[in-house]
Amino acid sequence: MAKVSIGLRGWRFDEEEVFTDEGEFRPLDSVPEETRKRLIRLTYLQEKPCDACYLIHGEAEKRRCNQAEIVYGEPMEEVLLCSEHEADFLYWFREAGGSEAAGTETFRDRFHEWFLDGNRAPEGYGGLDHVDTDPDTLPTPPEPAELNRRLNENYEGERKRIDLRTGEIKTVEDDEEDEPSLGDVDLGREYPTK
Ligand SMILES: [Zn+2]
Repeated sequence: MAKVSIGLRGWRFDEEEVFTDEGEFRPLDSVPEETRKRLIRLTYLQEKPCDACYLIHGEAEKRRCNQAEIVYGEPMEEVLLCSEHEADFLYWFREAGGSEAAGTETFRDRFHEWFLDGNRAPEGYGGLDHVDTDPDTLPTPPEPAELNRRLNENYEGERKRIDLRTGEIKTVEDDEEDEPSLGDVDLGREYPTK
């Protein structure tokens, strides 16, 4: 099965799990749960700043941050990076104990702490294994509202709602109030203050 990145490099998806034969995104309820969770999360990570840049510049100088191109880690504990700071992350992960934090709830915090302590990859640290991927050629993830619309194309007489934190799909009773716009949901991507 071919693996593809969507929107950001790093996370890889089985093409057949995510796309139909026609190259359209599959309806979300036919996407396996773990994959769905990442896909939904990705829609929120587009155009977010690189974590490392943000740690350097802070909220006040957010405009000076590079936009993230790469995502590592698990949804909600992911680390976002620009190509400039990817080497620092990879060095932390491979050589400075970062891999021990993989899959834990402190993954992102631990990288941030390491970076804030002034640690960096040595000059010229390489080992990037996908430098030839051009982020501009990656497929763009669908908008959250679009995901929700497509989800409901398959149902009559009931509505489904995506839990954006868990990727779960729930049935909404007809007499319930309309859900707030998915775009308003706070997904809790908190940035630390220095
Ligand atoms: Zn950066």
